Amino acid sequence: MNLINLVVIGYGGMGSYHARELIKETDGVKVVGIHDIDPERLELAKENHFEVYETLESVLTDQSVEAVLIATPNDSHKELAIAAMKAGKHVVCEKPVMMNTKELEEVMTISKQEEKIFMVHQNRRWDNDFLIIRDLYQQPKIGELFQIESRVQGANGIPGDWRHLKQHGGGMVLDWGVHLLDQLLFMVDSKLTTVAADLSYVLGDEVDDGFISYLTFENGVRAVIEVGTTNFIKLPRWYVRGFEGAAVINDWDLSGKIVKQTGTIDHHNLVPIQAGQGLTKTMAPPSEEATTTYEINEVVADFDSFYHNFYEVVRKKAEPIVKNEEVYRVLRLIETIFEAAETKQVLTFE
Ligand code: NAD
Repeated sequence: MNLINLVVIGYGGMGSYHARELIKETDGVKVVGIHDIDPERLELAKENHFEVYETLESVLTDQSVEAVLIATPNDSHKELAIAAMKAGKHVVCEKPVMMNTKELEEVMTISKQEEKIFMVHQNRRWDNDFLIIRDLYQQPKIGELFQIESRVQGANGIPGDWRHLKQHGGGMVLDWGVHLLDQLLFMVDSKLTTVAADLSYVLGDEVDDGFISYLTFENGVRAVIEVGTTNFIKLPRWYVRGFEGAAVINDWDLSGKIVKQTGTIDHHNLVPIQAGQGLTKTMAPPSEEATTTYEINEVVADFDSFYHNFYEVVRKKAEPIVKNEEVYRVLRLIETIFEAAETKQVLTFE
């Protein structure tokens, strides 16, 4: 394997995780150094036995470096990506790829001009919980899915410093929203038609600390995407309904269940249950004979790992799993979410 020598730019939380866990020589990519503007982070990189590059210039002029990973705050992605590609390096860029679609257009143009690969690390396409739901969507075990609710909720507020600030691309739509929206658009093979959204500012920051978005697709799928950082009780990570059942995945531990209608519901002889101060047949559980409950089983990705795909794209012109056009569509959706929330309108997604 002709390894791709890569320098990590930004050795913070995510950059150090790439260097430590994600980038593997067995995938064809080798970390040959670290660059960060913070001397303390460089010191840490040295302690962790990495070569360090004190300046960006020294990375860009090193002919042995073929690629960089950009894992810096969101507002610095564009300049770093353009400088790297102009210096002849391929780029892996953290999400959210850019601050807006205009920036991404510029970067995609440079990528074409310089003939350098620019690939975005939408790593949550490989998440187990997502792969299970995608499998339910693709092999309709509970019938065609028509309702998809995807949520992440915590109670720790917005972490760190720059994520609180607009100028750095802070806020939860850009931070977590971009993952959930990317998963949704990667899964649902239909035109997105309408977008409604509400952003929350419970913490009083200048950026959103969470949001709810309601999306509809041409094929009838409706989706609720929600991110919260002030939720002391969490709702399930996924709740989906198909025409023959429903599934829930509670959390990252993949606990949950799939309930499928496997018998006939006797609508005429339903037995009412006591519900509060009344009786109800409508809300009574279906008879045990009418449904079967299944466990959630892990699903293995039917596509390559991120970095091996990057290697194949660079060395063998393979198709990228994360395509820039897809990332662009997600960023356009994010812009539409901001607009829908601000105007309090349901917007058509062209
Ligand atoms: P962080 O604040 O922990 O780290 C950022 C690092 O970048 C810091 O060490 C800082 O000194 C350095 N830096 C800032 N500007 C720089 C510059 N111009 N040149 C070189 N170094 C610079 O932030 P983080 O949580 O690691 O996030 C970094 C990026 O990774 C963000 O874009 C974020 O959205 C993304 N991220 C992605 C995931 C994921 O799952 N894909 C998870 C976390 C973060």
